[in-house]
Amino acid sequence: MEIKQKDINLQIILEASPIALVLINERENIVYVNNFAENLFSYKKAELKGQALDILLPDIHRIKPPEFWQNYFINPTTFRVGPDDDVTALTKTGRGFPAEVRINPIGAEGQIYFLVAITDISERIRANEQFKLLVESALNAMILTDPSGNIAMVNKQTEVLFGYDRKELIGQKIEILVPSRMKQHHPEHRRNFHAHPKARPMGAGRDLFAVKKDGTEIPVEIGLNPIHKDGEQYVLASVIDITGRKKTEEAIKRYTHEIEEKNKELEEFTNVASHDLREPLNSIISLAELLIISKKDQLDEDGKKMLDYISKSSARMSEMITGLLEYARMGKSMNLESTNLNELVNTVLLDLDSSIIGCNAKINVAPLPTINVYPIEIRLLFQNLISNALKYRFQEVSPEIFITARQVKKGWEFSIKDNGIGIPDPQKEKIFNLFHRLHGRNKYDGTGIGLAQCRKIAELHNGRIWVESTLGEGSTFFFFIPEL
Ligand code: ADP
Repeated sequence: MEIKQKDINLQIILEASPIALVLINERENIVYVNNFAENLFSYKKAELKGQALDILLPDIHRIKPPEFWQNYFINPTTFRVGPDDDVTALTKTGRGFPAEVRINPIGAEGQIYFLVAITDISERIRANEQFKLLVESALNAMILTDPSGNIAMVNKQTEVLFGYDRKELIGQKIEILVPSRMKQHHPEHRRNFHAHPKARPMGAGRDLFAVKKDGTEIPVEIGLNPIHKDGEQYVLASVIDITGRKKTEEAIKRYTHEIEEKNKELEEFTNVASHDLREPLNSIISLAELLIISKKDQLDEDGKKMLDYISKSSARMSEMITGLLEYARMGKSMNLESTNLNELVNTVLLDLDSSIIGCNAKINVAPLPTINVYPIEIRLLFQNLISNALKYRFQEVSPEIFITARQVKKGWEFSIKDNGIGIPDPQKEKIFNLFHRLHGRNKYDGTGIGLAQCRKIAELHNGRIWVESTLGEGSTFFFFIPEL
């Protein structure tokens, strides 16, 4: 598009420009300043006319040797004085500010003039300082690279992580920190990033390594951020040493493998227990039955008692093996389901109906939530706790049982409270161990598996179970089920 002189004249453009513009002649005397410059420097135009440029830029000559200036006015070119040159501009009121200066020679009517554009860069410098502070205080190693991949800035953490002094890194190619076997492709990755700059983790899916000054390699995670600086695109990389995390991951892998192996062993053991132990046990049970049927009359009272004892003990052992197997297999195939626990507890109470009526028990069930659980297992948990509450009672007192639930941090806490015989303090933990019982079978029947199952079920839900009890007054079993 071409603008005709008569439409808009040059002076109007200069006046409207949002940059301070000063026109000087070859003797460096000011011949013209625009409105913006007048305001920025607090001078009236007339005050500046004929003055040397030094009145606005007192140290402009300092940044280049005298020969430069002598030559410059004979052989003028465009040149720029940037933030690194540290030039201060001075206003009439004596206020100094950091300036960026661009000088362009213009030829007009056989005369040569120089258009000097002055920008106040205090804001830019402040932002830069803040950026530096931010980078310096980061907990990760932060490395700024220019468009050619040269390191422009690093923070303290970079020095700590890589063992270099920052002076040794500035100006070096970023590849100084890349292991040699990966160096070859790195510039290509760099160029790709510049072509599609957006904040992202580096090397998605690949294991990344960096190399320290002493040559050791460390596993790292790197975040890349494009940064615009002085009109160019830089990259700010944040580097985290993940040696610790890798070690933990490996330890977890090893540990999981060990647990899997142990579980396999346990499974084998329980299979052996079920088949190999059951065979001779079944023989004992059948032989004892045969003896009872065919030879009972030939035995005296002691003999009959012993036979009865053999029969009951072997039946009990069979029951224990079944319980052990059930316990070991629990959790093999479970389905998490949203379950209405009031409905679930009602079905348990129906199953226990005859024992409830038998001991004239009163059972109070508070409103229970509908939550995600393994329903079959949770049902067994309630069943074991309620039947224990019925079983471990004083013979002369009717059981009264309260079942409640309350929402707690990150889950639900349930309680089953009874008015039974209670549990002595030292036993409160042990009763959850497999086969641990506090009474003889003649007093309270059982196998000692129920509470071990309960603990396993709570743990399968990532929850826990515990008991509070006063001997002779009753017990309250609690279990916590987290939100799943
Ligand atoms: P079992 O009832 O088959 O013996 P459990 O594992 O269910 O096995 O319980 C272990 C032991 O904990 C029981 O033998 C009993 O001594 C004690 N116990 C369990 N529940 C109660 C309860 N509600 N009140 C008092 N003691 C209890």
